[in-house]
Amino acid sequence: MNCPCDSGRVYAKCCGPFHQGLAAETAEQLMRSRYSAFVLNLYDYLMKTWHTSTRPVSLADEEPVRWLGLKVKNTQSDLLHAEVEFIARYKIAGKAWKLHEKSCFVFEDNSWYYVDGDILES
Ligand SMILES: [Zn+2]
Repeated sequence: MNCPCDSGRVYAKCCGPFHQGLAAETAEQLMRSRYSAFVLNLYDYLMKTWHTSTRPVSLADEEPVRWLGLKVKNTQSDLLHAEVEFIARYKIAGKAWKLHEKSCFVFEDNSWYYVDGDILES
């Protein structure tokens, strides 16, 4: 299947290996794999890649969202910190929305973690 992160690559050669346990080498890879995990409801993966300082207790009562697409706009990264700006489109209860966010990531213990994000005006 095509990868849900809209990379144009097949899932098994894109986000799939990260969901299987391979560590993402870049923050953008992690961001894409987390988007795909939202699409595929891989909540364990989302929790695992969420920095402990900001990780929610549970994702169980999230509203049901249908994710429609991802576009990564910009990535800035050094060895330990990264910011990834993206637009994700989704639907809740039949209504379409756009999430324009700049997400922050840190590299710790040989892995990237999502910390938090700023919502940007589109
Ligand atoms: Zn992917």
